Amino acid sequence: MLTTGEKPGVGTYKCANCGTIVGLDDPEDTLSPCPSCDNTEFEEVCYLCENEASVSGEFGRDFSFVRCETCGKYYLGEPSMWVRHYREEAPREKRTMLSAYTRERFEHGGEPPVLGYPDEDIITGYANKTLAEKLENLIWYATRKSPQFGDSILLEAEKDYPITYSLSPEGFTEILNNAIAQKLIESTESGFKLTEKGWTIGTELMKRREGGQP
Ligand SMILES: [Zn+2]
Ligand SMILES: [Zn+2]
Repeated sequence: MLTTGEKPGVGTYKCANCGTIVGLDDPEDTLSPCPSCDNTEFEEVCYLCENEASVSGEFGRDFSFVRCETCGKYYLGEPSMWVRHYREEAPREKRTMLSAYTRERFEHGGEPPVLGYPDEDIITGYANKTLAEKLENLIWYATRKSPQFGDSILLEAEKDYPITYSLSPEGFTEILNNAIAQKLIESTESGFKLTEKGWTIGTELMKRREGGQP
């Protein structure tokens, strides 16, 4: 937990009491009390999803490396520029599509991407994903997470919503409910599991994707 008066460096910080996000765009900036509730405790959050994350900078360089349960791993070039401009350049809907991109790279075992100026092609690409693509990625993810057929797995809307390219945890739940309605996934006592139909589709997808296709 960070406290008012500290100089935690360039980044985005969330008030531990009311959730207000404050940005520091200079390494010499001091954390002030929360502008909304006057609270003095903050946690560092991911630039994209604003959930608690591990963010490390490199001394003397305007560069951040982020490890986030929602977004996977990514580098951000010029985080100070990001903090100054992201509200206009990358409002929440756009940032969430970047989360879909970074999480996808992470799940496919790719090198963490370097983000700079919000890339409109990436954002549009993910914003245009169809329901079929969203469902397919959820089934692929559930299959990859299952050690074997019939095993129960956790699917957590709060941190897994980028898996379905959704804008929010609610969007993830909608896709999950769709998969349940189509009898691809069913709930268990401790989570979810793939049905036989879901498993068949999922293992096909695994083979196809390992074969070099995205
Ligand atoms: Zn506050
Ligand atoms: Zn994140």
